[in-house]
Amino acid sequence: MTDLSDYQQVLTPNYGVPPTIIVKGVGCELFGQDGARYLDLAGGIAVSALGHCHPDVVQALTEQANKVWHLSNVLANEPAIHLAKALVDATFADRVFFCNSGAEANEAAIKAARKAAFDVYGPEKIEIIAFNDAFHGRTIATVTAGGQPKYRTGFGPMPEGFTHLPFNDCKSLEAQISENTCAVMVEPIQGEGGVRPICPTFFEKIRAACDRVGAALIVDEVQTGMGRTGKLFAYQHSDVSPDILSSAKSLGCGFPIGAMLCKEWISEHLIAGTHGSTYGGNPLGTAVAGKALELINTPELLSNVTERGRQLTQGLNQLNAKHQLFKAVRGQGLLIGAVLKDEYAGRSGELVKLTMKMGLMTLVAGPNVHRFAPPLIISESEINVALQRLDQAYVAFNKQP
Ligand SMILES: *Cc1c(COP(=O)(O)O)cnc(C)c1O
Repeated sequence: MTDLSDYQQVLTPNYGVPPTIIVKGVGCELFGQDGARYLDLAGGIAVSALGHCHPDVVQALTEQANKVWHLSNVLANEPAIHLAKALVDATFADRVFFCNSGAEANEAAIKAARKAAFDVYGPEKIEIIAFNDAFHGRTIATVTAGGQPKYRTGFGPMPEGFTHLPFNDCKSLEAQISENTCAVMVEPIQGEGGVRPICPTFFEKIRAACDRVGAALIVDEVQTGMGRTGKLFAYQHSDVSPDILSSAKSLGCGFPIGAMLCKEWISEHLIAGTHGSTYGGNPLGTAVAGKALELINTPELLSNVTERGRQLTQGLNQLNAKHQLFKAVRGQGLLIGAVLKDEYAGRSGELVKLTMKMGLMTLVAGPNVHRFAPPLIISESEINVALQRLDQAYVAFNKQP
């Protein structure tokens, strides 16, 4: 049997040492190699939207696995066309490009915005405005777009043309955006950056400013999309419509797939040969995501997200009245962050370790935020169990030196 000492010998050390090995998942529960059971309020990292081994998703995957796995984009397949149609029908988008991850979806978004600007306005219009503390992925271009310098240190030189501004600050946006801006890239809720929701007026200001200078609005919904906030995509809570949207994480519910959705005025510049992906749009991933979209985009499931989100937020506020750990509980739907008070700053990782001890998987969002991103199918009674275990974990935290 393999164990964590094998892990430490043969895997690159970039993730740190994981606390355990998981061998099975069913619904919202995970089972460890050592027999331990965990209720899952992490869902990978906001990925397993339909829980683990959802029977309909397993069926979609295995049926396709018995038909055809891979064709390349020289040939077409039915699941990819079906999924693209469903995404176009459900959103602002006219067209879809498929890839395999969130970073790749953002790469496609950046390249598409640059190419459209280049074709229409020429080589000066290259600036991408992004925001401090944003997270857009780990490739060279997407760490450059991201607003966390620690992810760039040591990997330079970085590509040119990216500007970072304070999140939710209308004035600096107005001061910076110009005719040379080709895109503004933003998350509706900064996920990795601490579960920080965008201010609605800021979102509207970005849209208006993009329209004024002919820039594309890229909305990164890799974490917030596919039902996570109680709408299919988080932008749908507002009147703002993106030009480009990136999706991944819950799109495949655990099967690796990403998508870049866009308006025609962007896609018309992605002519044959301009961009591509060997695995992008493969029939396995698109069959799974097609089933996921069908199951997620229903009034019943989306209202469960809203109700369970409310229940978890209320429960966290009640626990906080008792334990006095957090200065805020924020987020939307089932993407929730509890922000540690200043005296506990830097200690969110300890909370995750303690909840695991109590049989509960949770997440951090940076050093100061305890994050929750459970499967969207989670039940009322499961949230109640989770709150009991959180209570125990917060008791234990308060007893720690
Ligand atoms: C996770 C995440 C990404 C990166 O997705 P990968 O699949 O890890 O490449 C990009 N943007 C946001 C907002 C994310 O949360």
